[in-house]
Amino acid sequence: MKKEYIIPIFVPHLGCPNNCIFCNQKKISGQTKMVTAKDVKETIEYYLKNFKDNYKYVEVAFFGGSFTAIETKIQEELLQAVQPYIQNKKVHSIRISTRPDAIDKQILRRLKRYHVKTIELGVQSMNNYILSRCQRGHTVEDVKKASKLIRLHGFILGHQMMVGLPESTMQDEINTTKEMIKLKPKIVRIYPVLVIKDTPLAVEYEKEEYIPLTVTQAVERCKEVVALFNQKKINVIRIGLQNTEEISDPSKEASQVAAGPFHPAFRQLVEAGLWYDSILKEIKKINTKVIQVKILANSENINNIIGHKKENIVKLKEVYDVDVIVEASEEIKPGKFKIEILKTYE
Ligand code: SF4
Repeated sequence: MKKEYIIPIFVPHLGCPNNCIFCNQKKISGQTKMVTAKDVKETIEYYLKNFKDNYKYVEVAFFGGSFTAIETKIQEELLQAVQPYIQNKKVHSIRISTRPDAIDKQILRRLKRYHVKTIELGVQSMNNYILSRCQRGHTVEDVKKASKLIRLHGFILGHQMMVGLPESTMQDEINTTKEMIKLKPKIVRIYPVLVIKDTPLAVEYEKEEYIPLTVTQAVERCKEVVALFNQKKINVIRIGLQNTEEISDPSKEASQVAAGPFHPAFRQLVEAGLWYDSILKEIKKINTKVIQVKILANSENINNIIGHKKENIVKLKEVYDVDVIVEASEEIKPGKFKIEILKTYE
């Protein structure tokens, strides 16, 4: 299988006409000036030089901002800058992210002409009250319309959702997930809300009008959401913002995070939590009281089974008094596991 590489290009907030209360794209991307065609070329050249693999699939990804809300001329300049690399097969496709109300047939035809393959929509919530509470400036109807058009025009549809938006409950997150699933995205990104400095949300936080989720609460909500996407085999490609100098522990000076459920291994906490629940469920099904069990699983799942800082193993011992040994077995498919009872009480 070809190894996939992404060349990320951040299009800052300047491209977006909106002001969502949680957003300060300049702080998140660490970039305040609009990218140019020259920047695009330089970034591609830099990454291509550093990819060692010969057998690879390379995608240029315009992240951040709202790509299709930028002036058409600038969009075309940026997309045009990638075309020579697509023609000489050094780059294979382009992905963009944008707002649901910045999609129409004309925009999609333009993206097709420039070999864009994947379009990620910032859905955030499928509840109109929460969307307007966050000043998103679009509605659930816009998400539905844009998602259908994107799929109809043959693009890969991606959705991004936020967990822990103001006034959003666990039930709201579940409803959003179910509504998103109906629109058949192929890929999904889940972002627990972090309070970014110099945003209206940071002001609400200071006035104690918005209380962010704790890490534990955010993990619990994300577990529910991820489990629903997993059931439908929708690929969750990211959980939590990428750690950078700006997105880091709020106690660090350079961090632009004022508060919220930041954790450097957030995804692992969610995945390990899901493993913990399913292992515990199996252990509880065993008819006798066990002292020690062995869990066999594919090597790619071992870290999440053990958990962040061995949390799962420690918790099973402390709460249920079960010793767990974890062993890799390539005979077991990724995502599955087998339990062997090693010792039980007489
Ligand atoms: S639409 Fe996206 S880029 Fe624009 S303000 Fe909202 S979150 Fe930020």
